[in-house]
Amino acid sequence: MSEGVRVAVVGGGWAGLAAAVHACAAGHRVSLFEMAPQLGGRARSVRKDGLTLDNGQHILIGAYVQTLALMRQVGMDVEAALHRMPLTLQYPDGSGLRLPAGPALPAFARGVLGWRDLPWGDRLGLLWWAARWRLRGFRCPPSMTVAELARRCPRRAYQALIEPLSVAALNTPAEQASGQVLLTVLRDALFGPPGAADLLLPRRPLDALLPDDASRWLRARGAHIELGRRVMRLTADDTGASVDDEPFDHVIVATPPGEAARLLADISPAWSAAAAAFTYQPIITAWLRAPQTRWPQTMMALRADGLRPAQFGFDLGALGGPADTFALVVSGAAPWVSAGADATRMALMNQWEEAFPATTHGPVEWIASRTEKRATFACTPGLKRSPARVHPRLTVAGDHVEGPYPATLEGAVRSGVEAARCIG
Ligand SMILES: Cc1cc2nc3c(=O)[nH]c(=O)nc-3n(C[C@H](O)[C@H](O)[C@H](O)COP(=O)(O)OP(=O)(O)OC[C@H]3O[C@@H](n4cnc5c(N)ncnc54)[C@H](O)[C@@H]3O)c2cc1C
Repeated sequence: MSEGVRVAVVGGGWAGLAAAVHACAAGHRVSLFEMAPQLGGRARSVRKDGLTLDNGQHILIGAYVQTLALMRQVGMDVEAALHRMPLTLQYPDGSGLRLPAGPALPAFARGVLGWRDLPWGDRLGLLWWAARWRLRGFRCPPSMTVAELARRCPRRAYQALIEPLSVAALNTPAEQASGQVLLTVLRDALFGPPGAADLLLPRRPLDALLPDDASRWLRARGAHIELGRRVMRLTADDTGASVDDEPFDHVIVATPPGEAARLLADISPAWSAAAAAFTYQPIITAWLRAPQTRWPQTMMALRADGLRPAQFGFDLGALGGPADTFALVVSGAAPWVSAGADATRMALMNQWEEAFPATTHGPVEWIASRTEKRATFACTPGLKRSPARVHPRLTVAGDHVEGPYPATLEGAVRSGVEAARCIG
């Protein structure tokens, strides 16, 4: 297609922003329609009692190459915006894995060998387990869960490392989560290039991490961005596609799966039925104020079980956020959503007091919590995800689209880049 192709992007989350930036960079005329009054989708900032908080605490890793490339493309200073630290799953009692800096594979081996609170047999068992999956090319039967994948992994290493990584990356409990998707993430992170396994923690609110810079970049290049506009109807034929009867040469649908299923019901009933069949996993984020509390590092792993909801905690003050403010994250949170807000709040306060008795000076105050019931799709074994190409004039982007990654920022951005490549 020649310069001046009219492209509509429906949905201004990170997938839609990636698609819009790439379509614009390719010389197309881009219109972006977003239903909400702001861009960012699930990865956006929210205001609460005068504080700017994130819709949910987000973690990026060094292996998010396309997300980092997109941030740089729209002019962000990535090193300033993200706090980089080697992969560390350290618990409040000081136990846990801490990888040294440097090339990923030797760093993983050195980190495991230096994991002091893990018996020697378990350290070697974990390395042997990882080496075996590497030899198998990080492939497992599609029906395998993470728990089955880790059957030969030493129990203590499984509980302190594999289970928390699974719930953090896939937002799905290990007994239900796809072993293959976790293997893909482990391959890219632990066996990728130097820095791939590093944790990248936002030092800015999510809006200032991509949506603000991306929208400035797009507007400066003539893109049309319409906020507060819910697209109601799409059509597509051989000559083009339309958005609420406005003609375009190509449309990229970058909404969550349920809304994509509605919009595409007439264009591709089969695609629409598959997207409507997704099941979801919630995430709860709670914010607490704990004056004069200092953690040894900005992110702590927490022991979660039937009484303790959160798997991770973040010191937002140390990350440039509001002072004395901490975020607790409950991934794969379905049991806690069922338990109700009061029970979850009480359990989180108890968990905090139990985990941080020595570092808390003064009363801990509950600020707020936020439950995203459809935070991500449930990343289960053999899950059939729908393809990006629905029609020659219409492609789909979003973290739910067919791809190797779980529902993450990187999955969303990759799908957006790919959808823009399909234009023409
Ligand atoms: C609490 C929480 C914590 C998370 N933590 C992490 C993490 O640590 N690391 C990580 O990588 N990922 C994390 N994720 C996942 C990540 O946020 C998502 O994978 C990603 O944001 C999905 O982007 P998307 O563009 O595919 O979809 P969305 O962000 O859902 O964007 C879709 C957009 O489409 C708009 N829209 C819908 N219908 C219409 C319509 N008809 N017309 C116009 N616009 C429409 C919506 O308003 C929305 O803005 C987390 C998610 C949540 C909710």
